[in-house]
Amino acid sequence: MTALLALASCTQDAASPSQSAVSASDDLIDLIVQGDYVVSMDEAGTVFENGAVAVDDGLILAVGPADEITAEFSASQTLDGEGRIVMPGLINGHSHAAMTLLRGVADDLALMDWLNNYIFPAEVQFVDPEFVRIGTELACWEMIRGGTTTFVDMYYFPDTIAEVVDSCGMRAMISATVIDQRSPDAEGASDSIEKGSDFVERWLGKNDRITPIFGPHANYTLNAEQLAATRAAAMKLGVPISIHVSESPFELQFSQDTYGMPSIELYESIGFFEGPTIAAHVVWPTKQEIPILAERKVGVIHNPTSNMKIASGISPVTEMLAAGVRVGLGTDGAASNNDLDMWEEMRLASLLQKVDRMDPEVMSATTVLTMATRGGATAIGLGDIIGSLEVGKHADLIQVAFDDVHHVPTYDVISHLVFVTDEQDVASVVVDGKILMKEREILTIDTDRVAAEANALAARIQAALNERNRSQ
Ligand SMILES: [Zn+2]
Repeated sequence: MTALLALASCTQDAASPSQSAVSASDDLIDLIVQGDYVVSMDEAGTVFENGAVAVDDGLILAVGPADEITAEFSASQTLDGEGRIVMPGLINGHSHAAMTLLRGVADDLALMDWLNNYIFPAEVQFVDPEFVRIGTELACWEMIRGGTTTFVDMYYFPDTIAEVVDSCGMRAMISATVIDQRSPDAEGASDSIEKGSDFVERWLGKNDRITPIFGPHANYTLNAEQLAATRAAAMKLGVPISIHVSESPFELQFSQDTYGMPSIELYESIGFFEGPTIAAHVVWPTKQEIPILAERKVGVIHNPTSNMKIASGISPVTEMLAAGVRVGLGTDGAASNNDLDMWEEMRLASLLQKVDRMDPEVMSATTVLTMATRGGATAIGLGDIIGSLEVGKHADLIQVAFDDVHHVPTYDVISHLVFVTDEQDVASVVVDGKILMKEREILTIDTDRVAAEANALAARIQAALNERNRSQ
């Protein structure tokens, strides 16, 4: 096991600010999180056996062997480490959180049939701020329960999403959806850009955990001028964009027919990649397009479950990683997954590449664990502040219990985290130094209330769907 490269440097660096941050009468730091293993996910792949992470003021003060951390620091709160693995929180790079309320409404359909005949009409009919609040709370509950600490969301009524994130304590990049059709919160492209700009202005700099961004839907729901206008609005306010890119064979054909080139070439030709871009899916990039993604530092978010369920295809993740593309992982919305389980995404990302190539050596456990943590952070542009347990980064971390039967015995912790662990194994979750879940008890969301509200709203949706089906 690697020695404490972090500890020695950090205690000097962090000593003065941490002392000034606590009162003279007590030298307590906020939190120490211990584990039988601390999987730092730093560049060197450092794992500490019997390790600990010291946290104060939302930041990581030190990472190293538990005996040295506890000799150096006293904390007002400690999460004990027996039977626990400490690691960075998972980063869900693409979601439509509130769609938890449409989970299972329409399954077993292709993307365009699913979108045009089920999801878009249902959204126009049912989605309002109340729907978004309840659905996002439900999603945050599920994500915290499963060890996700950051998500990149794209949905309607982004102010409501931001309010939920503000109160539940997660970290998020929240996209104002831009789409050229009547949507639940806008009349078309220019209206949604205008409303999106207002949202970004309201939330920019308001809460360190929340980054307001733009979410143009795709190049088949916006034309080239509207896409360029969205980028211009994002550049003006200095924020990134998240967008669906090259998701399905339909999109590939549509782009070729409409613009005379595939999607990524189109975006490059209109200067769309001049600003930071989080590109969800990227299932069908051409050989010529992959270097553009690397060159432009586009963050690609791979969504294996959604791509399999809607039969969008198998993304060439192996080729993109080899070309130096930044790749993270996401769940997509719960209506096309149908859960927000990042452990499942890791496992499927690995298995799907292996069976597609008939090569068990592609997509190792370390590769996909990186995509869900440090690599995902880099892909969404937050690599400097989250994604690994390193001194000075924000304390977004989780404890995974590995005392359940499927973890007995454990020879290789990284292998277990990818090929065995599921949501129910996550014991505690910390974001920005604050405990959001402690030994499986969610502390920042009234889960009984949210479950009751979700069930009541679902009953109304079911009744309306039954009514619509009868009249058709
Ligand atoms: Zn999506």
